Amino acid sequence: MSVTLTWTGHATWLIDTGAGVLLVDPFFDECPTASMKAADVACDAILVTHGHFDHVADLAAIAKRTGAKVLCNWEIGQWLGGQGVANVQPMNLGGTAAVPGGRAKMELAWHSSSLPDGTYAGNPCGWLLDVGGRRIYIAGDTALFSDMERIGRPRDARGLDVAILPIGDLFTMGTDDAREAVRLLRPKLALPSHYGTWPPIEQDAAAWARDVEAGGVAVAKVLAPGGSVTV
Ligand SMILES: [Zn+2]
Repeated sequence: MSVTLTWTGHATWLIDTGAGVLLVDPFFDECPTASMKAADVACDAILVTHGHFDHVADLAAIAKRTGAKVLCNWEIGQWLGGQGVANVQPMNLGGTAAVPGGRAKMELAWHSSSLPDGTYAGNPCGWLLDVGGRRIYIAGDTALFSDMERIGRPRDARGLDVAILPIGDLFTMGTDDAREAVRLLRPKLALPSHYGTWPPIEQDAAAWARDVEAGGVAVAKVLAPGGSVTV
């Protein structure tokens, strides 16, 4: 079994579990670095970390066009329902739900969350996936927090295969804290996210990857928008 992760730019990912494609935080048409348009996205389920526009801008349109089930918190689920999105699995922190190829657990994140129209969007989250025989942690937008040690702790003798971490700074962890996150999470592979979209979150991701690998915990790989890695 293998899983292919594709970064389409900013914090948007397509994760092919072998049993279906998961779309994380759809932000395409207004994203200056997106590798594709919202109208061209095919997916079977959509995972949402929080309500900010750079994570939900194309959510309702893609959910309606594809019929993909949306996994999100209760408040974002209510907001989607008001826009005619019917296939929603509302959840909350600590909860787990089925996705194609396995399961997705809603994890903690330290951030804020409101929807583009000002609607309250509940708590932000990360996602811990057990899909296609791989364990993948998507931190979402967050500060560094010590529970990452718990999230990365091996279960059933299996630790994390992949950690997707924001490195852009300013609105999330920057490169130093993201390197510390790798030390806590201990994934086999670390992938940077949420950087390079606009000047305020520009980062030297290659330098970050070299620093991560010098730490001896994980391999780090920098993808260009549209790039993929299979684990
Ligand atoms: Zn963001």
